[in-house]
Order: sequence, then C-alpha cells, then structure tokens
Amino acid sequence: MKNLNTFKQDILVGSSILYKSNNSKFNKIKFMIDNMEDNLAFKEYIKLNKVNEKNEYNNILNKFKNRYINYRNSWVKVLDNKDRNYPLSVDIEIAAICDLACPHCHREYLVTPDKIINEELYKNIVDQAVKIGVPSLKLIWRGEPLLHPKLKDLITYAKKSGILDVIINTNATNLDEKKAKEIIDSGLDTLIYSFDGGTKETYEKMRPGRFKKNSFNNVYNNIKNFSIVKKNNNSKFPTTKIQMIMTKDTRGEIDAFYNLFNDYVDDVTVTQYNERGGEVDDLDPKLKLGILDYLKKNNLKSDTPYMVDLDGNVYISKKRKECEQIYQRLMVTYSGKVGMCCHDWGAKHTIGYLSKSAYEEENDISEVKKKIDQKKKGFELLKDAILPKQFNTPKKTVGNLDDIWHGEELKRVRKAHQNGEINSIDICKGCTFKDTYHWEKIKI
Ligand code: SF4
Ligand code: SF4
Repeated sequence: MKNLNTFKQDILVGSSILYKSNNSKFNKIKFMIDNMEDNLAFKEYIKLNKVNEKNEYNNILNKFKNRYINYRNSWVKVLDNKDRNYPLSVDIEIAAICDLACPHCHREYLVTPDKIINEELYKNIVDQAVKIGVPSLKLIWRGEPLLHPKLKDLITYAKKSGILDVIINTNATNLDEKKAKEIIDSGLDTLIYSFDGGTKETYEKMRPGRFKKNSFNNVYNNIKNFSIVKKNNNSKFPTTKIQMIMTKDTRGEIDAFYNLFNDYVDDVTVTQYNERGGEVDDLDPKLKLGILDYLKKNNLKSDTPYMVDLDGNVYISKKRKECEQIYQRLMVTYSGKVGMCCHDWGAKHTIGYLSKSAYEEENDISEVKKKIDQKKKGFELLKDAILPKQFNTPKKTVGNLDDIWHGEELKRVRKAHQNGEINSIDICKGCTFKDTYHWEKIKI
C-alpha cells in the first residue's frame, strides 16, 4: 500500500493536473518518439508513398518525431507563440450523448443534446484539420465517445489521414472485449479513463448511470481487461491514463485509487475540480467555513475564488490570467458548432459553424429539455439542467477551421485576454478554469 506522503504533487496550484503517480517509468513524449514506427499515421505515410529505401525511411521517421516534439513543446509553451497558423488540437465531439449522469458534470446543470456526429461532417472536419497542419485530435467534448457505433472507423480515418496524436476520454462503461479490440485495432494513440473514487461506494455515488445502474465492478473489470487484451495483442498503442477529479468525496481516496489502477494503466492522475455551479463541493464544510471567515475578516467578497491543494494548503485569487486554451485548440460540437475552449460547455460563446446542421442544435437541446420536463426514463438525474445562455452568436454562414482560427471573434477575445480584460468576455468572466487565476497562499 502506497502512502499519500510518498506522492509528489506535480503542480502546486492552478493547473488542472494536481497529482500524477510517481510511476516514473512512463513518459508519454518519450514513448511516442520511441514508438513512432508503430504510429498508424507514420505507417500509412510509408505505405502510401511506397518508401523502401532506408535513408528516406529514416528521414521521414525523424520528421514525424520532430513534428511530435514540436507539437508537445508548443502545447506547453503556447503563450510564447500567439500567432500560430493552426490550432494544436481540434476537439471533435463525436458523441454528445452520455450514459452516465455524474453529479459533478456540466450535463447535470446545462441541457445537453443526446446526439452523435454524422460521419460525413466528421470526415470533413478531419480533412480540414489535416490541411492546416493540426497535429492532434481529441474525439470528445461533452459526451461518451464509445457510444458512437463507428468509433473504430472514425479513429482510423483520422490516423490514416495523418493526425499524429488521436485521443479519447471514456467512462469505460461500454468497454467490453469487442470494443477493446476495436479500439486497439483502430490506431488510437491515447486512451484516458475518467473514474472518480477509490472505493465502490464513492465510485457509484460519483458516476451514476442514466438508463441503468452503473457498476463499479463492471467498469473496473473493463479497464483491467483492456490492459490484458492490449498485452495479448502485443500492441503498444493506445497509451492509457486514468484520472480522478478531486472532490470532497474523493479527496481521501487517492491512495486507494492509485492502488486500484497502477498495474493496469500507464499513468494515474488526480485533477482539480472546477466548480460547475451544482451541488457538488470539493471541500468539507469546516474548511469552507474557514475560508469564508478569512474572506470576511479581510474584507474580501464571499465569492472570491479559492482552491485547496493536495496537502491542504489554501489559496485565494484576486486576479485573472491570460488563458492558454484560446491559442491551443478549437472545439467542435456534434452538429458543427465551433467553440474556443473545453470549459465552455455547449459552445455558449460560439465562434463559427462548420455545417448548417449547427444552426439546429438549439432544437436538439429543446428536445432533451422536453424529456426532462416530462420526467422520461433516463432524464430523471438531469432535472436541474437549464437551457444554456448564448453569449456570442455569429452570423449564420458555414466557415472552415482556418477562417475561424484567424477570425475576428477569436482575435477580439485574445486581445481582451492580452490586455488583462478577461472579465470583459462573458463566458470567461464566469469561468472556473483554475489555470486562469493568479493564486496566493493564505493561512486560515
Ligand atoms: S461520464 Fe463524463 S460526460 Fe458523462 S456525465 Fe460523467 S462526466 Fe459527464
Ligand atoms: S477563460 Fe475559461 S471560458 Fe475563457 S477561453 Fe479560457 S477556458 Fe474558456
């Protein structure tokens, strides 16, 4: 049994990633470089171009490796180059539907469509991304990607089109052996599990099913079995990571969480909870009262942002920071609506459209709201969900990733962030993404 004290907290404050297992054996960048010959994007390039000559092969291999290194370095130092001609990632929501109703998820507070992406639209987005040089695609935003019946084909299409790093997050409820084989065969690079809790009791409280009971044992076995299938298949990809969000309930279960999964995934991480406006809290009431008391004594507003790190140190924030996401990525909903960051659930601050179907997303939202109001089966846990406000609605024309990335709206948002006016953008003003706050440690 590992002791919490032996864990090193990676990043003290601010970042979403609070804790990473000290499994130093795994370094994703090194792994991707060392195994580039197994990356489907590389293999396909070699095959299509009929590369047989050794020098040429090695030159191409080095180009792929350098491109990957460049992409990762650019991601970390994104603020050093704010004029990049393309996003480093496009997040494509292949499924907005989800079979769970986690109490800490935006889905429980904002009505979210139960839809999946149309294959033709998906391929069009991938083609556009490849054309402008996007190195990475994340095939998820709000839902559960394993619910798209053509998941394998979608991943393989992106890989064979040349995307270096294709990533999905999953709740693993549907990760049976057949799905596991499909994912391994698809060429996926990175699989990230979301799993909250180190015990059956906490997990089932934090991750309830919408349509049927979600079971700890089932999901735990799915994750375990995936590692066995991958091993039996002699497959290096995808790399696997599991992450837990630190809330009041999971805070005390980090050891247990680590012990559950350390043998079955490459990486175990705990991430900071970003308040979603719901009932879930990340702190126990006593600590919260202590913080409120401190704020009062120091004449600070009671809604001053706070956070607590793994060691229990408390921080408050009086100032915002420029956000990295507006230089890193574009987000696309299943209907083709484009947003600028993963914290804007539902693209309330829409910055463009990639399909006319995006104009109809509101109808899909209304359909879900109706089912909630009618108390239909599978919608009971969504009872607190309200219709999302729209903060920015661009003119209804179908654009492309390139135009939107260089468009006037993103320029306006970036300028506001650069000028320290982040709160002038409605969606950013209410954003709880902790990386966009300056933190100062307090004693309570
Ligand atoms: S599995 Fe993910 S998308 Fe689904 S409800 Fe939970 S947190 Fe939200
Ligand atoms: S501050 Fe928040 S809402 Fe604004 S771009 Fe960044 S992540 Fe999105």
